[in-house]
Order: sequence, then structure tokens, then C-alpha cells
Amino acid sequence: MRSPRARFVFAARLTSARRGLSWSHAVKFKGLAREKPEKRIAGVTRRSRLVAGNWKMHGSRATNGELLDALLAGLPGKTGVEVALCPPYPYLQQVSERLAGTPIAWGAQNLSEHDQGAYTGEVSAAMLKELGCRYVIVGHSERRQLYGESDAQVAAKFAAAQAAGLTPIACVGETLEQREAGKTEEVVARQLRAILNKADFGAGVLAYEPVWAIGTGRNATPEQAQAVHALLRRQLSPGVRILYGGSVKAQNAAAIFAMPDVDGGLIGGASLAAKEFIEIVRSAQ
Ligand code: PEP
Repeated sequence: MRSPRARFVFAARLTSARRGLSWSHAVKFKGLAREKPEKRIAGVTRRSRLVAGNWKMHGSRATNGELLDALLAGLPGKTGVEVALCPPYPYLQQVSERLAGTPIAWGAQNLSEHDQGAYTGEVSAAMLKELGCRYVIVGHSERRQLYGESDAQVAAKFAAAQAAGLTPIACVGETLEQREAGKTEEVVARQLRAILNKADFGAGVLAYEPVWAIGTGRNATPEQAQAVHALLRRQLSPGVRILYGGSVKAQNAAAIFAMPDVDGGLIGGASLAAKEFIEIVRSAQ
């Protein structure tokens, strides 16, 4: 069961979506988000950039402390690039204590689609909210492939995150087999459609992460990324940020971020090395 507040927020969002209210209306009206990810200047939508680190199942209290110290010391001050870190659940408290009052946000790598109940091992959106999370990744390909998360489940997680006032970072992406069969467009469109059928995308963030590029050292070319981002963009309102993820490193980040429909990155392996991650953030400036 959803809490009364979650039910209220969910219903309000649904109503806003059905009435065709913009993200800004919904947010202003309901006070659901702290930041507006887009600006309109002379009729052109300028989306703020986001670089999010997905630590996956890595770290310890000691190594996290060192990494956080190095990031806080080395990340540029006012850059116009938002930075977020997504550690494993047990370290959210440590990360939140270290990052509170700094410009770096934090989030989780997954959540339950349920509000509460007998779901052993699961973590709810409200729990993440209590830990100060701003973001939560949903539908990462490792969740889809290793834990069998379906499009419908990912969409339910996306809606649960939004209802609790978290910003979901929803991942879509094709496998190598699907790309080689010419099915990239069909696959990412289907994954995004499942979310849009369930929820108003609102202030959510989309991440295009070709599965063949994740953790393989083989990134999509900037042009390949741009082509998919452009077609995803057509399904969304112009203010939605679309991140690229898949073997982004200091050395290839600038070229990828230079693409017009790439609004930042979701960074796995390279987010665990302070120097590398700082360079990636600089490349997004
Ligand atoms: C990821 O896991 O989201 C990711 C993009 O990983 P990597 O950067 O290591 O390819």
C-alpha cells in the first residue's frame, strides 16, 4: 500500500500529466523537486548537465572515504554541471554525511517498486528519501539481465521513485546482438514506452546505455550515441536530460558530451577513480 502522502503525490502527478501541465507547473504546484533541469533562453531549451557515478558493488568505508575526500578536493566549484554519486545501499549513510552541504548529490542504484511490506532484501523509495537521496537508478542493464527485471517492473520502479519525490535515472539500451540485428531503435523505444505508459516522465532522467559498451572498454562513438539520443529525445519533452553511459573515460568524454543531445553521463568504472571522474566532470562543463 502507498502511504497517504505517496498516494496524494502520485494522484497529483497523474492529474498534472493528464491535464498536460508542464514539468514546471507540476513542480511549482507540488514542490516536488529542488532544481529545474532546464532553462529557456530566447526560446531555446538549455538543459543543465548531470554526471552521475554508479559505484555498483564496489567500495568499503575506508576506500569510500578516500574517494569522497579526493572528489571534494578536486571537483571544480561552480561548473554548471551537476554531480551525483550512487554508492551501494550500506554506504548511503556515510556518503550522505560526507556530502551534506556540498554541491554533490547522491542516490541509489535500485529500489523496490513496492512502498512497504514483506519484501525481504528490498529497499523502498521512502527509505532512500529519508537518506537524503536525490536520484535513483532504475532499469540498469545489470538489473535487467542478471535479476530479470522486466520493462513493466522498471516502469513501476520509476513511478515509485517519482511518487516519493526522488528523481529516477532510467536506463535503456540494446545488446550487441540486438544492435547487429538492426533492432536498436525498436528496443530502446520499447523500454522507454513501458515507462511512459505508466508515468509522466516529468523531471526524470534517461540514460542511454548500450549493453555492449558497459564495462567492456568499448564505448559507442559520439555519432552512435547522438543518433540514439536524438530518437529518444523525440519521445520526451525538450527539458528531459538524456545521459550516455558505457565505458566513458576521461579520454573519450569530451567528444561524447559535445553531441547536442547528450546531457552528461552515467559513469561506472571510471567513477571509482577520483582523477578520472574529475576529468570527466570537467569535460561536461
Ligand atoms: C554503468 O554501469 O552504468 C556504466 C556505464 O559502466 P561503465 O562506465 O563501467 O561502462
